Formats: sequence, structure tokens, C-alpha cells
Amino acid sequence: MSRTIARARSETGDPLLLTPGPLTTALSVKEVMLHDWGARDSTFISINNFILKRVTEIANGGTKYVTVPIQGSGSFGVEAMLTTFVPSTGRVLILINGQYGERAKRICKIANRKYTVYRTPEDKIPDFEAVQRVLKRVPSITHIFLVHCETTSGILNPLEEIAELARTYRKRLLIDAISSFGAIPLDARVLNFDALVASPNKCLEAIPGVAFVVCRNESLKKTKGNATTLVLDLHDQWRNFAKTDQYRFTPPIHVIVSLSQALQEFAREGGAAGRLGRYQENCRLLVRGMRILGFEPFLPDCLQGPMVVTFRMPTAARFVFSTFYNNLKERGFIIYPGKLKVAKSFQIGCMGHLYPEDMRNLLVAVRETLTEMKVALASAVSEASET
Ligand SMILES: *Cc1c(COP(=O)(O)O)cnc(C)c1O
Repeated sequence: MSRTIARARSETGDPLLLTPGPLTTALSVKEVMLHDWGARDSTFISINNFILKRVTEIANGGTKYVTVPIQGSGSFGVEAMLTTFVPSTGRVLILINGQYGERAKRICKIANRKYTVYRTPEDKIPDFEAVQRVLKRVPSITHIFLVHCETTSGILNPLEEIAELARTYRKRLLIDAISSFGAIPLDARVLNFDALVASPNKCLEAIPGVAFVVCRNESLKKTKGNATTLVLDLHDQWRNFAKTDQYRFTPPIHVIVSLSQALQEFAREGGAAGRLGRYQENCRLLVRGMRILGFEPFLPDCLQGPMVVTFRMPTAARFVFSTFYNNLKERGFIIYPGKLKVAKSFQIGCMGHLYPEDMRNLLVAVRETLTEMKVALASAVSEASET
């Protein structure tokens, strides 16, 4: 008996990363890193200035905003934002429906920032009435923190509506947009946030190692002395750039150069709107195909963001996740064990250098894997009804 085994199409022969990040990048993005640059040399400085300007433009920040980079992964940017923007006399309302919201709370706790938590289950967005009640009950709240796409589940939180509440109640808005920036178009002039964190290794499809905090100039100016660490002090980092165009400490040069290449490909794809179209198509194919195979997405379609999809762990006795995972890995697809509190789950990402063809190949690989495992999941959707 001869049969073909579905395998991932990959430019480097490495497995495709269908995860919440870091993600598969284009060969061209990896290739530009095969050089060395001096951190204090004008060639690198001009590349760095280019990417900072572009990140501000992607947020539609105009001249009212400036992008301050901070070395480290995305969480370093979130910690830098919270500890630089929330003074010790302030209080931040943290909206939580997943682990990135929980992380913001831990940051505030460790840094001795006052906070109030409003928590919803991992498959629910914040309730506006309830948030307003908290804002009225605790008038000392100065800031609101929101995770735009809570990657723990893949839920898309209602950023515009929360921004509207912030405006009405005269609170400063701080956003973790790490997993949405570059795919969900957003406009600083409308949202009027004080700061927003982005990272290169999600929807911008580059390499991890730096975080970007897009800051409102007027607000950033007033943060002098707020920071409680030297390395995560955005005000100090910003002042130093204004004076010297240079990082205070060794920058992740290769990360930044790879991002300059990734931003060219981003522009070629039509910016955030173009990228969103590809991710939405990836997500649509994935959810439809997995439903046909008998898997159940954790979120209702109306709350599902197009970056990453969480599936409930099948309860069939023969379905062993580690076998499922390893079988897919052998075929060139890396998926992700779930981190939900409320249900056993796994995740499959739609972002990164992934195309609809990759999702179709993945679905064939999933089908073959289930057959090998002798698992037949009861499908709620019949294939015939899907066109
Ligand atoms: C990926 C991600 C982060 C950053 O995580 P790191 O591991 O520090 O890169 C923060 N918030 C959200 C919503 C994310 O998806």
C-alpha cells in the first residue's frame, strides 16, 4: 500500500510554527541577519530610526506619538509601559480575561503600583456596565490597561469601546497590542491612548528580542522619575534617543535589521489591512476544516480574533495529545499546548509567514494523524453541508 504523507511546505525545511509566537518568518527576513553592524555606527542608527518611524506610522501616531524601543521580549515592553506611565501615586484598572492580563497584575504587584482588577472568564469580553460601575466606585483610578487580543484564548477585546470609556471617564489608556499590532488596523488619533506595546515577532513577522512602546509625547514627558528600574525606564530611553539617536545598552541589532526587511514585506502586502485579510482567510479555513474533523473551537465565532484559535481537547479515549502533537511535528507542523484555566485545550496559530495553502496542508495532516491514532471524532458539521 503506498500513500503520501502530508507535509508542511517550508522555505528552510524547518517545521512551520502554528503557535501564538514567536512565529515562522520569511526566508528574506532571516537572510538579512547574515551581517554585523556597529551599534553606534550611522548605518545601524539610520535603520533603527526608520523602523521607529514606521512603527509610529502603523499606529497612525502622526507627530503626537513617538516609539520608544526596549530590549527584551514583549513582556519587557509591558513592564516598561506600566512602570513608566503609572506613577506610584496612580492606580490602574486592569481588565483581565487571560494570562497576559494576569501578567500585568503581577507586574504592578511587584513594582508596588496600585491596581484594581476587573476579571471576566476567558471566553468573555469585559462588560461595559460593570467596568463603568468599577470606575465610579473607585475614583482614584488613573489608568486603564487592556490586552487587545488576549492570546491565551485568541479573544479580541473591544478596544474602541474601552477607549471610549477611558475618554468619558478621563482615564489614561494603556494597551498590550502585542499580538494584534500589524494585523488589526488601529488609529492612535481615535483611540487616544497614552501608550501601546507592540513586538516584532507576532504580526509584523520578524524576530523576537525587542519591544516597542508607542507613547503619546505629552504623556511621556510627564513620566520622568516614575520608573522603578533603570533598564525599563522609557523616559530615560527616550531622552537618550533624543540626544544621541542611540540605545543606552547593547541593542538587538539583528532583530532590528530583520524588522526593517519585514516592514518592507508588510508594506508590499498592503499593511495591516492586507495582512488581516490573509490571517482571516487562514483562520476561516482552519476553523471550518477542524470543525469538519470534529474539533470544537473554544470561542464563539463572534469573539474569535484571526491570530490564534483555541480548540477544546477532545475527550475521546484514544486521543492522546502528545501523540497528536508529535505526529504533526513529524509532518512539519508545530502546534501549541493550551494554557486556559477553564478547559483543557490546544492552540493553532494563523499568524506569521503562513498562507491558506499551509492551512489546507495542516488539515490533511490532522486528518491523517487522527486516522493513524484510530480516533474518529463526532463531527457536528457534515462535509456535504460545507461548500
Ligand atoms: C506574546 C504576547 C506577549 C509577550 O510575551 P513574551 O513572551 O514576553 O514575548 C504579551 N502580550 C500578548 C497579548 C502576547 O500575545
